[in-house]
Amino acid sequence: MIRIIHQRAKCIGCNACVEAADYRWRVSHKDGKCTLVGGEERNGGFYTVVVDDHEWEENELAAKNCPVKIIKLHRI
Ligand code: SF4
Repeated sequence: MIRIIHQRAKCIGCNACVEAADYRWRVSHKDGKCTLVGGEERNGGFYTVVVDDHEWEENELAAKNCPVKIIKLHRI
């Protein structure tokens, strides 16, 4: 399994993560920031979700392409 962590407050809404994994990331029409689909808010404005291993490749690409480096992945 993989834990994905998103520091949403620092998101600039560039859409790079959506292009890499559109089933997991979506830009909000309300504030222009990206939302981690299925994510739950933790303290400090971090959102996390646990997903299956097969999502690793696309979400790793999302993390790599994020210009402000606010997406982290961990195998758990
Ligand atoms: S790639 Fe990073 S900055 Fe760009 S929309 Fe996704 S989380 Fe936000």
